[in-house]
Amino acid sequence: MDAIVCEEVRKRFGEVEALRGVSHTVPKGEIHVLLGPNGSGKSTLMKIAAGVLYPDGGRVLVYGKEPYRDFSVKGMIGYAPQEYTLYEMLTGLENYMFYAGLEGVSKREALEQYGRLRETLELGEWFEKRKVKTYSGGMARKASIAVALASDPEVLILDEPTTGLDPDARRKLWDALLKLKREKTLIVATHIFEDAEVLADKVVIMHRGEIKAVGEVDELKRKAEYSFAVDLELMEEPGGEVEQLIHSSSEIVVRTGFTYRLYTNDPSLMPELKEKLAELGVRLLKLELRHISLADVYFMVTGVRLE
Ligand code: ADP
Ligand code: MG
Repeated sequence: MDAIVCEEVRKRFGEVEALRGVSHTVPKGEIHVLLGPNGSGKSTLMKIAAGVLYPDGGRVLVYGKEPYRDFSVKGMIGYAPQEYTLYEMLTGLENYMFYAGLEGVSKREALEQYGRLRETLELGEWFEKRKVKTYSGGMARKASIAVALASDPEVLILDEPTTGLDPDARRKLWDALLKLKREKTLIVATHIFEDAEVLADKVVIMHRGEIKAVGEVDELKRKAEYSFAVDLELMEEPGGEVEQLIHSSSEIVVRTGFTYRLYTNDPSLMPELKEKLAELGVRLLKLELRHISLADVYFMVTGVRLE
């Protein structure tokens, strides 16, 4: 049985259609990364999958049951919301034991599970001794994830777990999540491309309440409309002739100030453009051809730049 099945899920908040019929399946043991900017509907979908919000239409099944209706499945789901929900005046461990109790986990089971999590999540002395209010962003995230894992759930739903972490803390969290993957099914929401590159078995590209594309990172790149990007930066305001040359070189040209990005399937675009720009006497700060990144795929699929 698939761990999570979303069928035509809809949710509206007043005028805002947060989810416009989202269908997606997460097989057991995979990590799927919901990738999209603020407002794309990631948190709404996760809340429904975690059973804290009802959909207006469609349904989400976790191991065959709708978590917002059938609380018996809630013990199989661990959910770490985007906003911290820990008690600041308690230690991480006190929070953990408190939430475990709410979930009906016995003290003995909770402590056994804690023994395992201490290793996987590298919960140091800080988790047991220090109050949450003294934690760094990385510590607070790990503590929330530990709390979500107290009942040893099958499915782990993490809403923006890496937001606000420094690169080192982010890398450590990636390691922990990849370790968890062996036993759990994970959905992770993020707007950070690197998270998706590192973690995802499948990337789910979301935009304005819809899923725009799903696939492995390499697969998404392979299937993208264009394979190469040319990054171009000029030293000065281009004249009309230069503008025209750049815009006629590719069907998709994105301009920000004096920098341009062109998409193409023809790598010879770069040397050709270089020669023509030189003929026009244009001074360049940068002219680079590269394979497209996940950020480029996101842009091609949604028309939105998320870098
Ligand atoms: P994301 O997590 O991708 O940033 P959200 O699911 O939080 O997206 O939000 C999707 C859309 O729904 C946004 O436009 C947001 O403002 C709106 N929204 C989400 N929750 C609520 C709510 N409780 N009340 C009103 N609007 C909401
Ligand atoms: Mg969100």
